[in-house]
Order: sequence, then structure tokens, then C-alpha cells
Amino acid sequence: MTDPIATLQDRFQEMKQAHLADPNPDYATRKDRLNRLESTLLKFSDQLMAAMTQDFSHRSPSEAGTFDVTIPLGDIRMNRRKLRSWMRPRRYHMPKHLLPARGRVLPQPKGVVGVIAPWNFPVYLAIGPVAAALAAGNRVMVKPSELTPRTSEVIKQMIEEVFEPNEVAVFTGGAEVAGAFSELPFGHMLFTGSTQVGRLVAQAAAKNLTPVTLELGGKSPAIVGEHADLSYTAKRIAFGKTANGGQVCVSPDYALVPRAKMHEFATEVEQVLKTFFPDVANTVDYTAIVSDRHQQRLQGMIKEAEDRGTKVVRIGDTRGANTRKEAPALLIDPPLDIQAMQEEIFGPILPIIPYDTVEEAMEFVAQRSAPLALYIFTDKHAERDAWLNKSLSGGVCVNETSFHVVADSMPFGGVGDSGMGSYHGKAGFDTFSHLKSVFYQPKLNASFLFNPPVRHYQHTVGKILRKII
Ligand code: NAD
Repeated sequence: MTDPIATLQDRFQEMKQAHLADPNPDYATRKDRLNRLESTLLKFSDQLMAAMTQDFSHRSPSEAGTFDVTIPLGDIRMNRRKLRSWMRPRRYHMPKHLLPARGRVLPQPKGVVGVIAPWNFPVYLAIGPVAAALAAGNRVMVKPSELTPRTSEVIKQMIEEVFEPNEVAVFTGGAEVAGAFSELPFGHMLFTGSTQVGRLVAQAAAKNLTPVTLELGGKSPAIVGEHADLSYTAKRIAFGKTANGGQVCVSPDYALVPRAKMHEFATEVEQVLKTFFPDVANTVDYTAIVSDRHQQRLQGMIKEAEDRGTKVVRIGDTRGANTRKEAPALLIDPPLDIQAMQEEIFGPILPIIPYDTVEEAMEFVAQRSAPLALYIFTDKHAERDAWLNKSLSGGVCVNETSFHVVADSMPFGGVGDSGMGSYHGKAGFDTFSHLKSVFYQPKLNASFLFNPPVRHYQHTVGKILRKII
């Protein structure tokens, strides 16, 4: 039997040699790789959808089709459309005292890059980074999640069908393979997953000084402003909380609501969810929980809230269903020391926390780890701008949840415990490129003014420089 760790190391070396033989692939080569990625994704899309629904025990076909086929397809096409302009040398103006020199930045591939993906959007979060890395001219090693084993196998098959083993390669396996993978001396590593594992990946990368982009999670708050339209807000938060069964890195984790409106808001969300999912156990539109362990974790959160005297509103009943669907639950004003308020929920449970003043709500968010996303619902610009100016989060949606993640023209990433670095669009191309500054000196220039031995007039030049610089 082949040793998976030795295979990883051998493949890395093969890819590195292939990269050194062609360290800066031209436009046609990169475009061809993106074309092949597009065609194989289209060809395998039905197989991927079937594998995802098996892995989750049930996956909403509409969500799987949108998030794990259409959106990565859009990513590939956007990279291809913009490729020529992103690859061009970028012109930089020179400070006047360095004229007539010229400055250019040449984006250059980093070599062999590593992508570690989670299970919640198993195709999108593997293929999206691969598209950006290929556009930037790299060779890519991918480690998909072991929690969606069938999908990971199809991803491997679809990549092997169109790529040489030294262009893009997929390595399946659990934490042991993942640990060894993260220790390879990549030119760059992009990890998507939990904050806890992100720390381990950063430590492994540090040993090689491998630059790392960490796309992590956290508790993203939805702020129901004092001037929010409650009915509209309830719809958008209910949507965000239940998309993919609440298993989205940017799901609104909890809602902060003005105390006087808390019950009205909870009733609105309950009504909306009843119209979204009249029969949550049997509808095809509701995604199940990925594993027994995650389902038990969510059920434990609800039970703890109940045991602590919290009012829990369940929307529908999934007990007895032959899938791992978990009915949405609202926790009304729970204690803040329960598990559901201490860790990322990553499921369809919405704690609703009342606040008395905007300052108190801001303090509540500021005292916790910087979230991946923050959602502000208000019809007043002043209230919106106060939150925008004073809060720190990876990204923000105003009067919406989660949609910024698919606005692929903007950088996407976290800050602090929710991650570092960003990708999507040009940010992705730049993340996987080394931006090499080149200083072009014409032979007719003033650099002789600095030559030793230093003469008196050079002191005068120094004084003038100090004034004009
Ligand atoms: P996870 O951290 O458990 O696993 C992610 C990947 O890391 C898997 O492929 C796994 O095999 C691998 N891994 C496990 N141990 C490792 C190790 N020691 N070294 C290197 N890799 C290792 O995360 P998960 O449960 O798959 O995903 C859920 C988390 O991901 C949530 O916190 C969610 O918020 C976050 N997430 C973030 C984004 C984003 O874009 N910011 C997107 C989706 C999910």
C-alpha cells in the first residue's frame, strides 16, 4: 500500500520541478487550464450534486446547484475574463526625486500552492481558490474535507480527468493527511475552515515561512437597528440563518434586537420560517446537517438553553425523519454563558439578544472576537454609518445577510480570529501572485550625485532633498 504522506511529498517535488521548467506560464496556458476546469466542473456537476446529497443525508438541490456549481463556474469565468488585464505589468509613478526612473509591478506565480477546503460548500471552497491560483499561473495541490468523502472523491476524479498530475492534484484523507499537507513548503497556502485548525495551519506554515491566507469562521452578528423595517429584516435574517441548514461561514450567528421589539421580531422570524418551510422534515429545499456529531452538538445547544430556562421556539419537527435535518430554533434572550453564545453555531439556531442602547450593542460586539461578517439592518444612514465606522469585521452587508460572499468583484476575508488575507476577484489573483516591484533606471540619471567620496555639494543636495521629499 502506498504511504499517503510520502505520496504528498513526492507530488510536491514533481510539481515544483514542473513549475521551475515553466515558472511564468503565458496567457494561453493559463486560459487553457481555466477552460479545462470549467469543462470538467460542468461535466461532473450531476455527479457532484448526487455525492453532496449523500454526504449531507439531504442537500437542497437548489442550494447545491447555486453554491457548488453556478458560483464556482462564475469564479472560473470571471478569472478568465479578467486574466489578460490582471497579468499585465502595473505602472507605478516614481517620486519626483527618482525621475526619470520608471516603476512597474510584475505579478508572478508563487509556484506550487496548497488549498485546504472545508465540507460546508465542498466544491465551491475547493474549486474557487483553484481557479484563482491557476489564473495566477501556479500549480495547485488540494485537500478537500473528509466529512464529505463522496464529494471529495468526485472532485479528485474530475480534476484527474483534465489535469496532468503535476498541474493540479487532489489528496483526500483525514487530519493526518491534512497535517502533513500543511507542512509542505508551498509558495502560498489558502486554508478555509475553523479558527482552531487555522491556528495549527498557521503554525505549520510558519516553519517554512509559507504565506498563508486563513478563511475562518466566528460569530457573525445581525444587528436589528432601532430604525429597521422588522418584517423585511426578519425575512433576510431567516434566509441567512437557514441557507445550507445554517452551515455557512457567513450565516448570521445571533441577532441583536432593541429590547422593546424583541418579541415582535421573534414572531416575525417564526412566521417567515413557517412560510419558507411549511413541512421542514419533507421539503427538498432544506439542507440537513453534515454529520451525527454536528447534529448532536446542535441538539446539545438547544437542550442547554432549555435547561437554563430559555424560551425556545422550534419551527417544524424533524424527529423521525430519515435524514439529519434539524428544525430551525429561536432562542429568546438566552444567558450569554451557554454554548450557543460562546462558540460559532454553524446550524439553524438563532439566539435573539435584546439591547437597550446602540452603544451597548456596539460594546457587546466589540468585546467579542472580530467576526467574519456583520449585518446591519436600518433605514437610517446615520445608524448604518455609526456601525460601519465603529465596528471591525471581515465584511458587512447593509440590509442583507451573506450576499457579500458572492459579490466576487470584491475582496473576501476575515480579520483577527475570523481570518487573515483575502481572495475573490482580483484579490484572489493577487493573493496567489508575488507582486514583484521592478525599478527601471535609464542610463542618463542623477544617481551619480550620491557616489562617494562625499563632496561639499552633496550636502547641499541632501538639504534640498529633505525639503522636497
Ligand atoms: P475544519 O477546520 O475542521 O476543517 C477544514 C479542513 O482542515 C478539512 O479539510 C480538514 O481535513 C483540515 N484539517 C483538519 N486538521 C488539520 C490540521 N491539523 N492541519 C491542516 N488541516 C487540517 O473546518 P470544517 O468543520 O470543515 O468547516 C467549518 C468551519 O469553516 C467553520 O468554522 C466555518 O465558519 C469555516 N468556514 C469559513 C469560510 C470562509 O470563507 N471564511 C468558509 C466556509 C467555512
